[in-house]
Amino acid sequence: MIDIASPLRLRLDSAALLHNWRWLAKAGGAEAGAAIKADGYGLGAREVMSHLADAGCRFFFVANWVEAAALMPLPAGVSLSVLHGVGDADMIAARTLPVRPVLISVEQVARWRAAGEGRACDVMIDTGMNRLGVRVEEARGGALNGIMVETLLSHLASADEDSPQTERQLEAFAAIRDAIPARRYSLANSAGICLGSDYGFDLTRPGLALYGGVPRAEAEGHIRQVASPEARVLQMRVVPAGETVGYGATWTAPRDCPVAVANMGYADGYLRCHAGAGGARWQGHALPLIGRVSMDLIAFDASGAPGLAEGDWLTLDYDLPTTAARSGLSQYELLTGLGSRFERYWT
Ligand SMILES: *Cc1c(COP(=O)(O)O)cnc(C)c1O
Repeated sequence: MIDIASPLRLRLDSAALLHNWRWLAKAGGAEAGAAIKADGYGLGAREVMSHLADAGCRFFFVANWVEAAALMPLPAGVSLSVLHGVGDADMIAARTLPVRPVLISVEQVARWRAAGEGRACDVMIDTGMNRLGVRVEEARGGALNGIMVETLLSHLASADEDSPQTERQLEAFAAIRDAIPARRYSLANSAGICLGSDYGFDLTRPGLALYGGVPRAEAEGHIRQVASPEARVLQMRVVPAGETVGYGATWTAPRDCPVAVANMGYADGYLRCHAGAGGARWQGHALPLIGRVSMDLIAFDASGAPGLAEGDWLTLDYDLPTTAARSGLSQYELLTGLGSRFERYWT
């Protein structure tokens, strides 16, 4: 096969990933696992798992069995769980792969009891989110009798805000821990970890903050950026004063203006809401994004970047909390939307 270099790439900082994971383990006062669903939040689940496993991370979580199967074979000593549990159609995968389902309903518990061949499983308890999970009263009523629970989980609905719901969930989970036997107990996601070790139990499940997201103010200054989109300059042009750039002619050159056109667009997950707010850097110089974002192209005012030329690489402004505030997208969407045309490379 011929080797064709991608004109857009995602630079991924393994030292920052490990730094974030270690900070989260410390802040949560518990062993930290990792949520690597949605292809490791867009960074590449296999590579994220391999970096974290090398550093000692043992518990990983994906959403479904297709994601789990794609991660085989697992690194030594690592456990993988499927957060959406087992539907009827998943039973063959669940009995074949060295992966645990997180059972999310009484129906799934019954299915596993009948056909799981005595294998271990995890169980999600719903402590008030009403998304997935066996209800507290169902669990107390014996719904989990006869199955072997490795990790008993619940998930916080509002930990990234200051909501009284979070403490109610903590109390409900602590009570369930005393009532239902399991090998270990796990409640906190990234935001929950920031609430302190009361939320840590035996195992935490950070996702966003591993990848550079700042879920709450407590994490500010502690979490390092991991993912940086980079786009190659396709063309430099000078736009004469008074002429416009791009679809809809939304940007007008205030003077004769050097413009860099680069290889990235909304089809790559760099959405149109970055218009008016986005930017990039080259050798320390700032380049504001101008005009609309096209499917495969974006343009920058290169007035502040003398010497920039065709073929150079721009690093997009993509610090997650700042970019989320500017664009109106969540930090989660900023990561998981990054498309398949990026060449992902780790430093
Ligand atoms: C996605 C997910 C996590 C990780 O959440 P973050 O907010 O990204 O830290 C943890 N637990 C469950 C059940 C999840 O679905």
